[in-house]
Amino acid sequence: MAQEVCSLKAQLKEQEKEIAALKKKLSQLEKSHTSALELHDKVRPLTPLKAKLALSNEDIMRYSRQLLLPELGVQGQLNLSKTSVLVVGCGGLGCPLAQYLAAAGIGRLGLLDYDEVELSNLHRQVLHGEENQGQAKALSAANAARRLNSTVECIPYHLQLSSENALQLIQQYDIVADCSDNVPTRYLVNDACVLSGKPLVSASALRMEGQLTVYNYSGGPCYRCLYPVPPPPETVTNCSDGGVLGVVPGIMGCFQALEVIKIASGQGSSCSQQLVMFDAQDARFRSIKLRPKQAGCAVCGENPSVTKLVDYESFCGSAATDKCRKLNLLPRDQRITVQDYQSIMDKAVPHLLLDVRPLVEVEICHLPFSLNIPLSSLEERKTEHIQLFQERISQLKQQMAGDCRPPVYVICKLGNDSQKAVQVLEKMSGSEVDSIMVKDICGGLMAWAQKIDPTFPQY
Ligand SMILES: [Zn+2]
Repeated sequence: MAQEVCSLKAQLKEQEKEIAALKKKLSQLEKSHTSALELHDKVRPLTPLKAKLALSNEDIMRYSRQLLLPELGVQGQLNLSKTSVLVVGCGGLGCPLAQYLAAAGIGRLGLLDYDEVELSNLHRQVLHGEENQGQAKALSAANAARRLNSTVECIPYHLQLSSENALQLIQQYDIVADCSDNVPTRYLVNDACVLSGKPLVSASALRMEGQLTVYNYSGGPCYRCLYPVPPPPETVTNCSDGGVLGVVPGIMGCFQALEVIKIASGQGSSCSQQLVMFDAQDARFRSIKLRPKQAGCAVCGENPSVTKLVDYESFCGSAATDKCRKLNLLPRDQRITVQDYQSIMDKAVPHLLLDVRPLVEVEICHLPFSLNIPLSSLEERKTEHIQLFQERISQLKQQMAGDCRPPVYVICKLGNDSQKAVQVLEKMSGSEVDSIMVKDICGGLMAWAQKIDPTFPQY
């Protein structure tokens, strides 16, 4: 009898263990099912964000260190939980911004990016990992934010913000953060924020410098009040042209998160009508007062001429992407392809290959037989460089039979600067140097790497 009781008890224990394991498996499956994020490729209406009436015990534990701050407190935390923020661009600024907003307990995060994760993003876009390469950035960022804080509602948008969708999207959010890296998107986001009455926390980072301003907030100016006319497209440099140290957008993205949290929690931002500049070299922040809101502003002024979204690419004369643009400065007969250049090399035709990239890029990679004179040195007619060039041309002339003009082929990274250099050399030909025949190699070294030599590094 006693033996039977013992055996039944043991059996029961086994069964309970099995039930517990099954329950655990079921709850994990349910969790992963409900947490699968749906990638939005168009703008859809969202359900209104529900306001929390009180903090749960888990909330109190999670946010305890910031709840202790009199500047935030329980009411500030509740305010965060009912605020939605749209992050335009999930790159170097958007990643740290989204990370801190999720960690702080923002209610809803819209994460917008049209691009996919690439290896060259990872040094600064710290929400994405090696395993996310090729994945939509919006989805990768949303998954990372969700891992950090599953109570935040994350909505990934894999789409390009445009005049057709920006208003509908921005109207659904309380605060907008511009983390894009191109001028047309800046104007588009600004106008959409003014037209829908939303504060815009805007930042940028390039090389070793960063900037931040809050626009259209508490009676302050909008982006157009300060920059009524877009800059000439050829004067604009982005990160893929000019480079950036990853931690610089990291700092600026964190700074954006700070201002968003201050606005959302009810403390308010002090960066309206202020331009905060960060100099990473000197480790210094400076702040300058900007001019106030302009009565004559085209979008937020008294008699606005912009009352709906316009075509921002044609307004700015450049594309609304963060990729490098392609210039077309030369006629066809002044340009050769990388395949043409390969056959010139194969036939050992005497010529000079001139690499016009800055030295820092030549040190990354170069073709072994090229002469390096940076475009800036040609434009400034730097004596030692011009002399070097003259010497190489006269050597080349001696190698060539007859008196045809020595051919010079100009190369750079992508084929933009090389065209500018051809124009400079054309002017010099026959006066400052012997008469030369000068052509540009289309697409530059990156085309060489893609089409001719796959072992050549891409950067
Ligand atoms: Zn304005």
